[in-house]
Amino acid sequence: MPKAIIIGAGPAGISAALYIKRAGMDVTVISSKGGALLKAEHIENYYGFPEGISGAQLYENGIMSAKRLNADFVEGEAVSLSYDGKFLVRAAGREYPADAVLLATGASRLAPPVSGISEFEGRGVSYCAVCDGFFFRSKAVGVLGSGEYALNEANELLPLAASVTVFTNGEQPAVKFPAEVGVVTEKIKCLGGDDILRFAELENGEKVGINGMFIAYKTAGSTALARKIGAAADSGRIKVNENMQTSVKGLYAAGDCTGGLLQISKAVYEGAKAGTEIIKYLKNL
Ligand SMILES: Cc1cc2nc3c(=O)[nH]c(=O)nc-3n(C[C@H](O)[C@H](O)[C@H](O)COP(=O)(O)OP(=O)(O)OC[C@H]3O[C@@H](n4cnc5c(N)ncnc54)[C@H](O)[C@@H]3O)c2cc1C
Repeated sequence: MPKAIIIGAGPAGISAALYIKRAGMDVTVISSKGGALLKAEHIENYYGFPEGISGAQLYENGIMSAKRLNADFVEGEAVSLSYDGKFLVRAAGREYPADAVLLATGASRLAPPVSGISEFEGRGVSYCAVCDGFFFRSKAVGVLGSGEYALNEANELLPLAASVTVFTNGEQPAVKFPAEVGVVTEKIKCLGGDDILRFAELENGEKVGINGMFIAYKTAGSTALARKIGAAADSGRIKVNENMQTSVKGLYAAGDCTGGLLQISKAVYEGAKAGTEIIKYLKNL
């Protein structure tokens, strides 16, 4: 049976899962625990809760309703998305194949706190090792991050680059990086160079020479995942048509990650729409 994978278990992802399961189709929701709802203390403007409801409770209710319909869940962070006849989502140390994928990972509200990132975008700063790693072959590259996502990007770069250094920017590494990867835990003061990126300057004054810096800060956001597979995205949001389809066939996006009104009702609508479109798409394969 054709299969869908949904990345993200917030209102958009769960809403899609409910429609897909009720159509009797196979769906796995891959999600880390987090998202905007868990930050929302009390919600008073969503239909059906006369006393309001906490974001955390609404989040749990959503997951419970999809589990009641027997949707599969994988707890973990999706760190990569590729296509090889089927979509392949890498998460929790393995690859999950699918015929259709829905990106529902919410809005990326965290900008990496390092000056020089936007200045060197396209001139050394990249958001996708699998897309841009080739341009940095035999060069010294850095990865900004400290977790699973940074590990994935470092592993993509190791066979290509002359050296790979992970900059955790003051955080303790949350994963074990391979021995060949340098790990710098000192905070970065800024990225510097001339027409291209040349170095990362640390707060202790040391300059580490790099020609590329791959941003893998915290978790892989929707636009980072979309870009890995060539789907159009700009200013932190994924471009979709009225059917929530991205520029890549079989790849859909819904919720905060598509921009516009960042509210539950809009995420639920887009999840429902994406779910019904995915059902049609899978039935026609
Ligand atoms: C403080 C705050 C208060 C708010 N108050 C309200 C309110 O009162 N009313 C209202 O309507 N809206 C409110 N919102 C907005 C609302 O929470 C969002 O619009 C809504 O949650 C968006 O749903 P979503 O499914 O698109 O994303 P999210 O709810 O953000 O869910 C995204 C999911 O994806 C997961 N995820 C992310 N990256 C990955 C990855 N790489 N791999 C696997 N999983 C991943 C996350 O862990 C999460 O489970 C509030 C938001 C905030 C931050």
